[in-house]
Amino acid sequence: MSQAPANPPPAKKAAGGRKFELSEELKAYKGVWVIVEQERGKVHTVSYELLGEARKLADKLGVEVGAVILGAPGPFINEISGEAIAYGADVVYTVLDAALAEYRTEPYSKVMTDVVNTFKPEIVLLGASTLGRDLAGAIATTLLTGLTADCTELDISPENRSLAATRPTFGGTLLCTIQTLAYRPQMATIRPRVMQMPERDGTRTGRVVEVTPNLAEDIFVTKVLDFIPDSDQEEAQLAFADIIVSGGKGLQKAENFKLVWDLAEVLGAEVGASRPCTQAGWVTSDRQVGQTGKTVRPKLYIAAGISGAIQHRVGCENSDVILAINSDPNAPIFDFAHHGIVGDALQILPALTEQFRQRRL
Ligand code: FAD
Repeated sequence: MSQAPANPPPAKKAAGGRKFELSEELKAYKGVWVIVEQERGKVHTVSYELLGEARKLADKLGVEVGAVILGAPGPFINEISGEAIAYGADVVYTVLDAALAEYRTEPYSKVMTDVVNTFKPEIVLLGASTLGRDLAGAIATTLLTGLTADCTELDISPENRSLAATRPTFGGTLLCTIQTLAYRPQMATIRPRVMQMPERDGTRTGRVVEVTPNLAEDIFVTKVLDFIPDSDQEEAQLAFADIIVSGGKGLQKAENFKLVWDLAEVLGAEVGASRPCTQAGWVTSDRQVGQTGKTVRPKLYIAAGISGAIQHRVGCENSDVILAINSDPNAPIFDFAHHGIVGDALQILPALTEQFRQRRL
């Protein structure tokens, strides 16, 4: 069983105050790590976004950025290591074993716990993807440390040099900043597209450290018998769309949502929606934008009949340009939209579609 680092059972609390102190042993933890998520050689882009963020944190702390790549030995590992360096890593730890070919919680969390205990990074970041969420929870548990999930902002506290991880709380109505003061490493997950993709710099250089994992397949109870890709369902590619046309409850009924599809079609855009629309079954849930849906960063986000509630706003506010169409001039969406049209979306959407269609002819 993998051991936890020297994290204290209860946090040390100075008498009469709320000051939590790091033990001398935990002060030795250095460096900001990103666990690079790759499946069959394909890297999830959130890992590169996080390397950009790790670079900023590491520069503030004056430490190195480490990228950890887990998987089976293969020709693509060298390529992924090079990409991790190009996106900001100083050192890449490759941990390769046939048991790590497909993601499984047990071997991945055992290996990551061992690697953290060996190299002692002070911060570990993972994408809040399906894999990242599962792995982050598992290793935070074995390492007995704190994990802040679904962060929207990361910084270094000037007061104590700890990670200040900001995330929505109370159903998204407030933002809170969480610090892990007495435990190491400090862990956080961040959803895809929340952080900006850094510039790739092919001239960067870095070291590669090959780590030999201590794994025996027979100790793991889960076995991968086969991998069957889901070819039937094509998920909406909202996270990477340049233009998104989103509809909200202001469209009043399912049939009216066709107006959103029509405009999206002439613009070559993806279709998004607010939560009430996905809950009512007007569109599939993979098209929901917001706190419990997707985070998007398109060049243009058109929001029709969407009020702009905070839970929707957090999913789209990083768009380059937001155009809101709403019949209520006081709708909260006008507080953060770059352009607004006050009026009936049921009339404005077809008018826009018609105009763009004519320009396309
Ligand atoms: P409404 O709030 O009903 O707003 C409809 C808007 O349409 C109004 O502003 C109205 O003025 C306008 N309108 C009406 N008629 C017209 C017309 N003819 N033309 C133009 N405008 C018109 N929501 C999300 O979207 N994504 C999430 O991920 C999400 N996660 C959530 C998580 C939690 C824990 C909770 C509690 C809530 C979450 N919500 C989420 C719900 C969120 O709080 C709002 O209820 C939701 O975003 C409102 O959707 P809406 O703007 O489409 O509907």
